[in-house]
Amino acid sequence: MARWGGYLGRSVFRFVIPPICPVCLAQCRPEHGAICEECARNLPEIPTPRCPGCGGELDGVLAKCADCLTESVRPWIDAVSVFRFRDMPRKLVHRFKYGGCTYLAPFLGSRMAENWQEHSTAAVDLVVPVPLHWRRLWSRGYNQAGFLADIVGDALGLPVRKALRRVRATDRQALLDINRRRRNIKGAFGTRSKQWIDGRNVLLIDDVITTGSTLSEAVETLLDGGAQSVAILTCARG
Ligand SMILES: [Zn+2]
Ligand SMILES: [Zn+2]
Repeated sequence: MARWGGYLGRSVFRFVIPPICPVCLAQCRPEHGAICEECARNLPEIPTPRCPGCGGELDGVLAKCADCLTESVRPWIDAVSVFRFRDMPRKLVHRFKYGGCTYLAPFLGSRMAENWQEHSTAAVDLVVPVPLHWRRLWSRGYNQAGFLADIVGDALGLPVRKALRRVRATDRQALLDINRRRRNIKGAFGTRSKQWIDGRNVLLIDDVITTGSTLSEAVETLLDGGAQSVAILTCARG
């Protein structure tokens, strides 16, 4: 959590963080760290070893999870995630994403950065968030992946560029099955400036990975745009 302290020092005006546990909103003393002890117990990270295809939980003795075995080709070189998208982590991500609780960004983003350092050896030199379409950005007021990318970039000492843009609006992926998700997201992204990504090893950031359709499309757009490699880092695996 030391990195979080450094982040707070520099960016305190961007996220106003109350002196309470960001998860349960109980008062907590500074020595309890970023979240209270009870919440730390209720927020277990994905157990190791993890699936190398998505960063999620393994289903048993197999080397990949069921989704990654079905989806044999993943366009990214590595994938790390932090939490299983259920119970308390799910509530937390929902509050962060839809509930306007942007003060959760430093906590979630710093856990993502720590997990990246612990679970990946992939070389990355640029952090890029998955973008929202401007209409969704306008109605929500912020891009949750953009906030997480800023925290991760700061913690890892890497530049952050909004190198991707949504070239067309899509239906919410969460409401669709896998085949519809693929069709829905096809051609949804474009690159903002090829100069930013040309020859770079990109770390692509999103809040949740479920089937991986959105991330696959975004990764392929970055590779088409000249990125040398793309790895993905998400907060939760759905
Ligand atoms: Zn708490
Ligand atoms: Zn997997």
